[in-house]
Amino acid sequence: MVKVTIDREGCVSCGTCEDTCPGFFQLNTDDTLSQVIEKYRAEGRPDEGDAPEDLLPCINEAAELCPVQVIQVND
Ligand code: SF4
Repeated sequence: MVKVTIDREGCVSCGTCEDTCPGFFQLNTDDTLSQVIEKYRAEGRPDEGDAPEDLLPCINEAAELCPVQVIQVND
């Protein structure tokens, strides 16, 4: 399983990850920071998730495009 983490404190709420990979990332409606969608969260944590194989291409793309590089993909 590939772990994905978001350093939410560094997120600048640009929306790129959600636009690039809406099946995995979304902006939290309260604090506007990026989070993992509920379905893929690791132990309910919004900043950590288990990536399904089919979403890895867009997750990797989102990590590359994040302007502050706060998305880590650990495979
Ligand atoms: S791309 Fe990076 S800075 Fe932009 S919303 Fe996603 S995590 Fe935050």
